[in-house]
Amino acid sequence: MRTFSKALGFVLLVVVALPLMAEQGTKTAANPLVYINTVFENASPLFWEMGDQGEVNVFLMYDHERDSPNRAAGHWHFRVEAPKGSEVPIILNNLDNIYNGRKGSPAKDSSISYVSPDGKTWRAIETELLEGNRLKLLVKMEAAQMYVARLEPYRLSDLENLLDEIRDSPHVDIRKIGETVEGRPLEIIQVGNRDALHRVLIRARAHPWEPGGSWVVQGMIRRLLRDDEAARACRKRYSVCIMPMANKDGVVRGWTRFNVAGKDLNRNWDQPADAVHAPENRALESWIESMIAQGRKPDVMIDFHNDQNGRLHISRPDVDLGQHLALMKRVEALLRKHTWFTEGATGGKFRNPGSIGEGLLERYGMQAFVHELHANRIAGLDSYPSGANWELYGEQLCEVLYELFPAD
Ligand SMILES: [Zn+2]
Repeated sequence: MRTFSKALGFVLLVVVALPLMAEQGTKTAANPLVYINTVFENASPLFWEMGDQGEVNVFLMYDHERDSPNRAAGHWHFRVEAPKGSEVPIILNNLDNIYNGRKGSPAKDSSISYVSPDGKTWRAIETELLEGNRLKLLVKMEAAQMYVARLEPYRLSDLENLLDEIRDSPHVDIRKIGETVEGRPLEIIQVGNRDALHRVLIRARAHPWEPGGSWVVQGMIRRLLRDDEAARACRKRYSVCIMPMANKDGVVRGWTRFNVAGKDLNRNWDQPADAVHAPENRALESWIESMIAQGRKPDVMIDFHNDQNGRLHISRPDVDLGQHLALMKRVEALLRKHTWFTEGATGGKFRNPGSIGEGLLERYGMQAFVHELHANRIAGLDSYPSGANWELYGEQLCEVLYELFPAD
């Protein structure tokens, strides 16, 4: 009797459980139990669906420019939820951008992505360029949740932590200069002696997908605030005035390029800012004008961006360029001397009308330029562009500025 019931139990197990297991097995192999989560700070707007081969098709949403055909999708940041130990192929779609009225794309053979089990420790992975301007990433599930982002994220909360860290320093002055479209405070962080003979204005993060500048200014601020001889010498010789995150609304929402009123904060600098749709630019413009009125015009202005070339953009608008080109030559030489920079500068008749470098040069005679940071590779380090490598660049920049400005 006992043998019989054992046998019956086994039969029942085979009849009931095996088909269930088979069904589960099929699901796991061809159609993993995947969920894509985007409900967190700086996550990118997207929708997704499973493909026939178990791949996840992610469709990024474009953000659009007002009064323009331009649109952009190139920031990706989301959390994959899938069984630990599985591999999830992800295909990014909708990378058909329109930039300066022409087709463009962030997808290249050399495009990379970052992955992280906790949203804090990131590691670069290679991507595969597929037909149809799509990028394939293979995400190995080291944990039941894996974060995926184009670059190591620098969020508004990271900036707020930095502000808390530095605000009590006697060498720091944080001043609110305006508000974003959505009412977030915009600040200028001044580090160094306010009465030093030389001042540098730095802006980061006009474009939300480009975290490089945020990492660079963090590295720079922390270096300048160290308690050592080199830092003291720098703080005495110059001060830096930093707008650390121009497009806060876009960063919080995980957008790619424009502000939430559809303006590109690196355009229209050849005319007074639109205070309604681009209050971020109006705030900076007012600050610049007040500095000029006080006889404290910044000696140099650097606007940090990310792209896939990493060069200095030396614009040549129709003004007397002698002094500007000479200074830019010195800047480039000092970058090569003191930092990992090797990418070079735009030459010939390069122009990008309305960009901040060109606009400030035309309107205020300010020595301004756009500094792109390569988003796929740092040639001078033979390494990926990580937050740590960009912070290192910010540290090294302190020395560049020290040598750029003559001793009193
Ligand atoms: Zn940019």
